[in-house]
Amino acid sequence: MKGRRVLVIGGGIAGASVASFAAQAGAQVTVVDAGMHAASRVPAALINPVRGQAGQVAAGALAGMRLTWALVDALEEAGVRVPHGRVGVLRPVPDDRTREKFERKLPADLPHRWLHPEERPVPLAPGWAQALWLPEGGWLDGAAFTAGLLALSGAEVVRARATAWEARSVTLEGGQVLRGEAVVWCGGSVGATWASERGTHRAGSLLTLNRAVTEVPVSFGAYLAPAADGGVLGATFEAPTPTWQEPVLPLASLRWLLGKAEALTDLHGPQVTGRWSGTRLSGLVAGRTASGVWRLSGLGSKGFLLGPLLARHVVGDVVTTLEG
Ligand SMILES: Cc1cc2nc3c(=O)[nH]c(=O)nc-3n(C[C@H](O)[C@H](O)[C@H](O)COP(=O)(O)OP(=O)(O)OC[C@H]3O[C@@H](n4cnc5c(N)ncnc54)[C@H](O)[C@@H]3O)c2cc1C
Repeated sequence: MKGRRVLVIGGGIAGASVASFAAQAGAQVTVVDAGMHAASRVPAALINPVRGQAGQVAAGALAGMRLTWALVDALEEAGVRVPHGRVGVLRPVPDDRTREKFERKLPADLPHRWLHPEERPVPLAPGWAQALWLPEGGWLDGAAFTAGLLALSGAEVVRARATAWEARSVTLEGGQVLRGEAVVWCGGSVGATWASERGTHRAGSLLTLNRAVTEVPVSFGAYLAPAADGGVLGATFEAPTPTWQEPVLPLASLRWLLGKAEALTDLHGPQVTGRWSGTRLSGLVAGRTASGVWRLSGLGSKGFLLGPLLARHVVGDVVTTLEG
């Protein structure tokens, strides 16, 4: 890949990870990023391999989690601060049936343990029959991690919106054309909508808090986690829409969110300092499309769990194709 130019559209976690691995492979990388509405700017993202209320474990979850932490370590070793906590994740479940459902999906090699009530690192509200402990999970600052990967990749970043792209070129608003040997589209929810695609977009919001409610992330329905400047309470809870929508204050949803969080643990103490809203796109595509443009998108709620791992696969395929 030495000397070959790779053009990446989008500088969220997908694009930053692609840029990072492409640069490691020796490519000269240019990232075109409008810098708007990136879901990856989420103030605290969970690194949680056991997903949702059904306990799904995505293929590659363990490898993805370990790669994300390895990248956090590499950034910190290089002097880039990424607020994070590799402190485990607690997944309370309401009843024995849900525990059984989770257990059926838990791979034997994924470190986990069901905790006795007295072992729980967080005092849960009454009614949680079981609690699953995922010791290798944790949280990280999405914006700092993404920006760190991009900075350390050494990629040239062009702050602009791409209006058209083909297998070997990207046209910017204003008409400038960039040329390279491979184009990787990583435009996320807003980018898919700018490209007039329809898909499954889900908005969600986090309340930022002046201090963390719990030092260990807790998640069932909603999640509570520490963050760089305190803590967060959040979820992706809006009904899916076919396109990205401008964020609005989600009043009804915030009531639901507070109810979910109150059901998890005691919320007294921390003050709300703000709100962050974002939209994630589902429908994973990680590979080459019919037009010859490569694509990594549709990371859903697993952008930080799987984004870097999938980016490494995509870059590996780009390298194989170019070096043929
Ligand atoms: C409320 C909420 C909570 C979440 N919590 C978690 C969590 O706990 N754990 C987890 O792993 N994930 C979580 N996610 C999901 C995660 O944030 C996403 O999966 C991930 O950020 C998507 O990254 P991306 O790079 O695909 O897209 P984005 O981060 O949206 O980045 C896309 C970028 O591309 C740019 N762009 C688009 N089109 C163009 C164009 N034509 N020209 C130039 N630039 C363009 C945009 O401006 C943007 O900067 C959460 C998401 C939300 C909304």
